[in-house]
Amino acid sequence: MQDDYDVIIIGGGATGGGTALDLALRGLKVALIERADLTDGTSGRYHGLLHSGGRYAVRDPESARECIEENRILRRIVPHAIEDTGGFFVTTPDDDPAYADKWLKACRACGIEATEISVAQMLKEEPALNPAITRAFRVPDAASDSFDVLTALGAAIQAQHGTVLTYHEVIGLTVANGKVTGATVRNRHTGAERHLAAPMIVNAAGAWAGQIAGMAGCPVTVRPSKGTMVAMAYRFVNTIINRCHPPGDGDILVPVGTVAVIGTTSVNVPDPNDTSIQSWEVRKLLEEGEMMVPGFSSVRALRAWAGVRPLYEEGGDALGREAKRTFAVLDHVQRDGVAGLITVVGGKFTTDRLMAERAADVVCQQLGVTRPCTTKDYVLPDARVPMMTPKTHWLGHRLEDVETAKQPDSLICECELVTRSDFEQAARAHADIVAPWVLDDLRRDLRLGMGPCQGGFCGYRAAGILHETGHQDAPQATAALADFAQKRWKGQRPLLWGQSLRQALLDEQIYRGILGLDQLESAG
Ligand SMILES: Cc1cc2nc3c(=O)[nH]c(=O)nc-3n(C[C@H](O)[C@H](O)[C@H](O)COP(=O)(O)OP(=O)(O)OC[C@H]3O[C@@H](n4cnc5c(N)ncnc54)[C@H](O)[C@@H]3O)c2cc1C
Repeated sequence: MQDDYDVIIIGGGATGGGTALDLALRGLKVALIERADLTDGTSGRYHGLLHSGGRYAVRDPESARECIEENRILRRIVPHAIEDTGGFFVTTPDDDPAYADKWLKACRACGIEATEISVAQMLKEEPALNPAITRAFRVPDAASDSFDVLTALGAAIQAQHGTVLTYHEVIGLTVANGKVTGATVRNRHTGAERHLAAPMIVNAAGAWAGQIAGMAGCPVTVRPSKGTMVAMAYRFVNTIINRCHPPGDGDILVPVGTVAVIGTTSVNVPDPNDTSIQSWEVRKLLEEGEMMVPGFSSVRALRAWAGVRPLYEEGGDALGREAKRTFAVLDHVQRDGVAGLITVVGGKFTTDRLMAERAADVVCQQLGVTRPCTTKDYVLPDARVPMMTPKTHWLGHRLEDVETAKQPDSLICECELVTRSDFEQAARAHADIVAPWVLDDLRRDLRLGMGPCQGGFCGYRAAGILHETGHQDAPQATAALADFAQKRWKGQRPLLWGQSLRQALLDEQIYRGILGLDQLESAG
């Protein structure tokens, strides 16, 4: 069986999603192919910072300029996924005080609004911060939710008659007479293979882009750099806090929903699938947190996870923090003599719209399409309330919805205030409701199980509803629950001490002691 498209885009992260929408808005028939759920790659495992560019102003001004320009655009076009927290750059006693003046000058040169405020004012706004901080600067950072961005992108692509195929892995590219003409994909649920044909393929597979390009015989060396983050159980601050020093480990604290996330580390890894977390990384992040918020490391750590940066420099060999954060669009006909294939790689989540625009420009030029890019002004609807004009994300919106609800509705996830009807609606919309990974996908849609109990109380309720409403039979619901519990456990494992250990033991007792999940699985 073969399906024909104008363009196939490989990779359901922010770059691939943005490229698919850009091309669909220019009137092309697109298919976005992702081997798991949208945001399963780095885009769903990042720190959540919409960069002002301040972090890169001194060493990498090109990236800094890209960040501030895109920061302004994204606030306009995807406001519901952005919380306008603002940001501070602070000089702690551990930071070289001379760096701040150099940094301020560099920000000005890059067009980033950075204003010095008094330490007293900083402490008035953020009383948990270290009173020994000597200088503080306000910048236009914000917090961005990649799950919401990709949900909106996916819905917008489909609204433009594009196809989004999740859980379809590209296992080969078809190359004939020096031209890529299609891709073979495997459905990861059924194992079925099919061939998709298109005159142009965009490789937006992030840290895996080298593997995809390799399928067409094009050498692309992506340098994967793993970064670990830890979500703490409290939202210590309402503003993003950056250390005012050259980028290092554990020097950014991002308020995300009800928690605060400290990150990241930077470890060069040979395999982009390597998201294992070393104990030194967690220790280092908690130690660095103390410099910004005294008492940080004694607060409960909720969850640790890692993502892999798709670092790329054409002709360069810099690794980790030395590598630039700009991006590249590789036209393989010019570079390697292979037509029909473009690779877009590198960059940041903040600059993914720009990457998509540049990649789409090259595709259109080769296909003879003259329509210009319109994504700078295309406001992405909030997929959950599509009839309303999107507003900037407000932390209190779920509580307000629950408190002002006209119909009584039960909460199935108290930590993240997910109601039964939210859950049922999202489940009905899910493309592959019988798949064992469905609860983890619904987590990304709803934040189910992302709070302090880490799925301990909501997981079995959610699986019960899938069964009660006839979406899944008993063995399917058991498999979904086991998959969800296992994935929640993965993020707790590196933090097993104190309160986190107590919570993990409680969850273990609920799932294995009371519900007998092991026996149910082997019986199922
Ligand atoms: C620790 C860390 C923290 C970060 N923090 C920030 C931040 O705060 N702000 C910011 O702006 N940026 C941040 N970044 C950078 C940012 O997250 C990435 O640059 C961006 O998400 C990359 O998006 P992408 O779409 O290019 O790649 P990805 O999101 O990785 O998408 C590529 C997709 O391709 C899919 N794929 C791979 N192989 C195949 C195949 N064979 N078939 C089908 N699909 C395939 C993968 O599953 C994946 O979903 C951070 C990165 C890391 C690692």
